[in-house]
Amino acid sequence: MKLDKCLSYDDVLLVPQYSDIKTRKEVDLSSKLDDSLTFSLPVISSPMDTVTESHMAAAMFRHGGFGVVHRYNTIEEQVKLLQTLDKLEPSSIKAAAVGISGDYFERASELVNAGAQILCLDVAHGHHVMMKSALKALRQNFSVHLMAGNVATKEGFEDLAAWGANSVRCNIGGGSICSTRVQTGHGMPGLQTILDCADSPLAQDVKVIADGGLKSSGDIVKALAAGADFVMVGSLLAGSIETPGRIIVAKDGSSHKIYRGMASKSAQNSWRNKTSSIEGVSTTVPFKGPVGDILEELAVGVRSGLSYSGSRSITEFQSKAKFVIQTSAGQFESAAHILRR
Ligand code: IMP
Repeated sequence: MKLDKCLSYDDVLLVPQYSDIKTRKEVDLSSKLDDSLTFSLPVISSPMDTVTESHMAAAMFRHGGFGVVHRYNTIEEQVKLLQTLDKLEPSSIKAAAVGISGDYFERASELVNAGAQILCLDVAHGHHVMMKSALKALRQNFSVHLMAGNVATKEGFEDLAAWGANSVRCNIGGGSICSTRVQTGHGMPGLQTILDCADSPLAQDVKVIADGGLKSSGDIVKALAAGADFVMVGSLLAGSIETPGRIIVAKDGSSHKIYRGMASKSAQNSWRNKTSSIEGVSTTVPFKGPVGDILEELAVGVRSGLSYSGSRSITEFQSKAKFVIQTSAGQFESAAHILRR
């Protein structure tokens, strides 16, 4: 068996290059999902029940990105979430997630009636025969943007594109709350998936979404350099005011919120009263305040990242960026290592 090189975000660094950018304000982070869907910040919040409902989707839109409202509820509840989003932010892009079996078609139909412009076909293993029939059925019946996933390979990306997806969520097993690789032995280091999918000629038209495993603005910069058009994030936004769920105050006075994988035991029990393959974990994260502050800080870091490669736009950055592979000594040196001594 031939073994391929397989890189993750921490394996690489971007080489700093000559820059004539005088202020980071010159850097434009806008990105397009398609001609009618342009965003000033290429960040999407994940369709998870501890990340995106109406308030998060409204805040994401206000700050230049968008959120995908999760599907772990009844159709009526999900439609209500879109209606609330419409009240909070009438001009907001409305994206909702659906599955690929069961009530998915009826759900999609009701969401489109409620104003969804994006449908996200949201499953753990998207390179699947049921994805093919769901994409084809939705493509035939609705003229909305179809986002689908997740995939880990170029073949997966190309098949979903051929079946009708307009954008594809790329990365399997890399999420912060994910235990798929432990449970199943399957997955691909996240950066490699983005490099492979973005290398497809179909990625000229079908957008690459780097989903999961992004720990910092630096990782977002690396994902964009590798060819992602957008990133999708959960943990970076988890714990903010706008996420669903209450604030938990610990005995020491510190505040937290729950963040959990949708295939975790606790999430499966909540949305379907049973568990099968458990491929996620549930935890608490520190309460982080308004998501707008987090997004502002991420945007500053990403703009700074593009300026280190002398680039004023994501397209320019993707043509200029140069990766090097770093050793474990490089990885140690790359963090604020005084804290580790
Ligand atoms: P994070 O940004 O690293 O926290 O990853 C968030 C991403 O993890 C989501 O957008 C999903 O693609 C993925 N995800 C969500 N729940 C689970 C799970 O239970 N198991 C595996 N992956 C998950």
